[in-house]
Amino acid sequence: MLALVGANWYGIKVGSIICSELTRLAVCASLFSLLLSIGLYARSRRVPNSALTAEAASSMKASAASGRCTFIYEFFMGRELHPRLFGGRIDLKFFLEMRPGLIGWVLLDMAFMFQVKANGGIIGLPFATLTFMHLIYVADALFFERSILTTTDIKREGLGYMLVFGNLAWVPFFYSLSARQLITNQPTMPAYCVVGVLFINLFGYFIFRASNYMKDEFRRDPHQPRFANCRTVPTGVRGRHLLAAGSWALCRHPNFVGDLVMAFAWSLAAGFHAPLAWLYPAYLLVLLVHRARRDEIHCSAKYGLAWTRYCELVPNRFLPRFYQRA
Ligand code: NDP
Repeated sequence: MLALVGANWYGIKVGSIICSELTRLAVCASLFSLLLSIGLYARSRRVPNSALTAEAASSMKASAASGRCTFIYEFFMGRELHPRLFGGRIDLKFFLEMRPGLIGWVLLDMAFMFQVKANGGIIGLPFATLTFMHLIYVADALFFERSILTTTDIKREGLGYMLVFGNLAWVPFFYSLSARQLITNQPTMPAYCVVGVLFINLFGYFIFRASNYMKDEFRRDPHQPRFANCRTVPTGVRGRHLLAAGSWALCRHPNFVGDLVMAFAWSLAAGFHAPLAWLYPAYLLVLLVHRARRDEIHCSAKYGLAWTRYCELVPNRFLPRFYQRA
C-alpha cells in the first residue's frame, strides 16, 4: 500500500494503470486460480487420507464402493485440508484467506481513488467513507487474524477451486466493485446521511466483532472465568459446549447478521445511482443463508440432540421471523 502511495507521489499514475488493466488483471487472477486449483487437486491425490477433509475422505470410500465419479465436486470443494508449502512453514489456505484477496481489495480501492484524482475530480465524503469502511473490515480481519482459526473455512473446507478463486479473484475484484462504480458516479449526500451510514456500519461491526470474538474465545477455552455465568449446552462430543449467551442467545448466526449490516451500510454509502454497488449485499445474503444451512446440517449431524436442544433455546437463525428454523 505504501508502494502504491509512493509511486503515485512520484508521478506514476498507478490508478490509471490499474484501472485500464483491470479486466486483464481479473482474467489473470481467474486463470491463475484455475491453474493453482488443478495443482492442488493433483497434489491431494498423493497425500495420505489423514490430510484430507472429512468429506473427501468419506467420499473416497463411498465412490470406491459405488464407482461414482466425484471429480468435479471435489475439484470445486477441495480435498486437502491444510496444504503446506516450504517445508510446512506456510499454510496455503490461511495465507490465501488472509493476504492476497483482502489486501488486493484495499489496493484496488486505493487505485480507484487515485483514478478520481487523475481525472481531475475530488474524492467526495461518501466515496472516502466507503473505502474507509472497507479498510476497517480488512484491517480488522488482519488484526484479529487468530479468530480465523476457528472458522468453517479453516477448520472444515478443503482448499479447492471455490476457496482459491474466491480469495484470489472474487474478493478483490467483486468486493471492490462498489468503489469502482464511484469513479465516475459519486453520490452527493449531506453530512448527516454519511454519519448515519457510518453509524450503521459501526453497529454492524460491533455485532460482527463481538460475536466472532466471543465464539473464538469460548471455543479456545470454555472454562475461562468470563464464561462462568454464561448459558451453554453440553454436547458430549469431546467435552464441547455450545454457547447460548450474549449475542449467541439472540440468534444462531449473530456474526453473519453483523456482516450483512455492514454490507448494507457500504451500499448505502455508494448511493442509489450505482445499482452494481448493491450486488455485494445481495450476494452476501445468498452466501450466508446457504452457509448457515450447511453449517446447521453439519452441527445437527455432529451434536445430535444437543443441537436440537440448542435450537430450542435459540430459535432464531438470523432475525426473529426472518429465515427461522423450519
Ligand atoms: P462461524 O464462525 O459461525 O462458525 C461456525 C462453526 O462454529 C460451527 O460449524 C460450529 O463448529 C461452531 N458453532 C456454531 N454455533 C456455535 C455455538 N453456539 N457455540 C459454539 N460453537 C458454535 O461461521 P463461519 O466460519 O462460516 O464464518 C465466520 C465469519 O466469517 C462470519 O462472521 C461470517 O460473516 C464471515 N464470512 C464472511 C464472508 C464474506 O465473504 N464476507 C464469507 C464467509 C464468512 P464446530 O462443529 O467445530 O463446533
